[in-house]
Amino acid sequence: MAAEARVIRLLMELRGLGVTDTRTLAAIEKVPRDLFVSQPFLDQAYENRALPIGRGQTISQPLVVGMMTQALEVGERMKVLEIGTGSGYQSAVLAQLCRRLYTIERHKPLLKEAEERFKRLRIHNVTAKPGDGSRGWPEQAPFQRIMVTAAAHDIPPVLLSQLAVGGIMVLPLGEAHALEQDLVKITKLADGDLHIDHLGPVRFVPLVEGLAEE
Ligand code: SAH
Repeated sequence: MAAEARVIRLLMELRGLGVTDTRTLAAIEKVPRDLFVSQPFLDQAYENRALPIGRGQTISQPLVVGMMTQALEVGERMKVLEIGTGSGYQSAVLAQLCRRLYTIERHKPLLKEAEERFKRLRIHNVTAKPGDGSRGWPEQAPFQRIMVTAAAHDIPPVLLSQLAVGGIMVLPLGEAHALEQDLVKITKLADGDLHIDHLGPVRFVPLVEGLAEE
């Protein structure tokens, strides 16, 4: 099947599974996922599957990217923070939708590869840095939107403090090494209270503190 036909098949599948937001679907359509997967998995780039990207990490399943992106309700003037750049695929999708994306990854080699992909795709509104994302990016806070693509045990308090009032954070929450986590959408209300929606079970690698050893 030609690449274009595979993309259309994937988009139809995502729509059938509940990704109905047209801006999200258009962003997924624009980002060539085959550039983000490693050579042995190239033929599966447009399958609705998570795939290994090295260092024990994975590129998320397209359905999860679609659900999380849709839930984040990103506007084109927004400043967005992402924790866990990984392959950079989710970053590239978010970059289509916002003014500027800040993204943090603890594995330097993964980050370097992701940055090469952004350059190749001429994505210029992403600023990436290596580090421990659970500390956020204080120099750039507050963010209107935050997405965490690794599973935390609790909502990281520093990230919550860097979320603007009225802002939305989407992240998987669960016990370390649990087989599944709970995908949650948190809205920070004007009085400081949190509104929490549960979006369903997901499976992510854990959020790990500190920069990874080379
Ligand atoms: N969004 C990615 C998939 C993420 S996999 C994609 O589309 O490909 C989760 C990533 O989070 C991994 O690359 C892992 O190294 C990273 N990670 C885990 N804990 C982290 C932390 N504390 N700070 C930054 N990155 C972290």
